[in-house]
Amino acid sequence: MKVCGMAARSRERCWTGWVLVLICAAICFLPLACQGGHQTEPSGVVPPQVPVRTSPPPPAVSSNPSSPSAPTVNSARAFQYIKEIVAFGPRPIGSPSHKKLEQYILAHLKGDQVESDSFTADTPEGKFPVRNIIAKYPGSKDGIIVIAGHYDTPYPLRNTKFVGANDGGSSTAILIELANQLRGKKRDGYSVWLFWTDGEEAVKQWSDTDSLYGTRHLAEKWQSDGTLKKIKAFVLTDMIGDADLNIERETNSAPWLEDLIYQAASHLGYQSHFFARSSDIGDDHMPFVRRGVPSADLIDFEYGYGNVFWHKPEDTVDKLSPKSLEIVGNVLLQTVWMLDQK
Ligand SMILES: [Zn+2]
Repeated sequence: MKVCGMAARSRERCWTGWVLVLICAAICFLPLACQGGHQTEPSGVVPPQVPVRTSPPPPAVSSNPSSPSAPTVNSARAFQYIKEIVAFGPRPIGSPSHKKLEQYILAHLKGDQVESDSFTADTPEGKFPVRNIIAKYPGSKDGIIVIAGHYDTPYPLRNTKFVGANDGGSSTAILIELANQLRGKKRDGYSVWLFWTDGEEAVKQWSDTDSLYGTRHLAEKWQSDGTLKKIKAFVLTDMIGDADLNIERETNSAPWLEDLIYQAASHLGYQSHFFARSSDIGDDHMPFVRRGVPSADLIDFEYGYGNVFWHKPEDTVDKLSPKSLEIVGNVLLQTVWMLDQK
């Protein structure tokens, strides 16, 4: 189902305009028509005017009145998580700061159903421990929605000032905040699994075998244990904190899922931040795409003009905005709620 949100919205505005014209005409001309009979208004009184709207109408509260509203994220809290995460410094696999971040994530999931998928990755720089972290929030419906994002930073940048506020930080933080929103609530829908992926970054030089260590491992494991076929949607977040937020329409992603995400964004009035550009991006969703799981990658790969801050020491918190976390977090929750209705 492909819905062009922009076209639908302009048509709706046009229809509203005609109604306004008709109401205006009725109010303006009815008193004139009545003047010949009995003049009810003293002279000099201006007939009541229909207020003229100068700004665009606010987004509709719900496109489907029967659909429940999704919760919303606390973006200030999510932004604070990013500040705390970057304070650990660079967080490549195998480093003490990576270990600290693992503990930080787990400390924010106390009482939740949490699983780790730990293994040793064989990389061009030797063997490294990799740990995927999954928090599960059970639903009443048979099926799973996975929301993922990586928490490691690149090994080649381990001795630089690179702290990955956006690349690694934003995805880790938004998932922790989503956990806050899902925790302790009865879900009348699919189970939601939050998945902090590890070893996303290349250890030496990006290739099919030197990248995506965590997701390649878990996709294979979930294929062999039957989990994979229960996944209704796999939605990845990466570099979603940029204050100038422009999420790509990622071309390896499932078009129907991206259309649904666009509908969710339009429902919340955030559609201008989505899909103005199309890009083919190899990211943590690929091991799932290759196995036929409906997947989408929400990434803004234009971080600074010409992506100039990407993998640079300039990837710092001052380039980010809580508003961007709010937009992506709320669109994710809205997407989950819309998937639940399907
Ligand atoms: Zn990166």
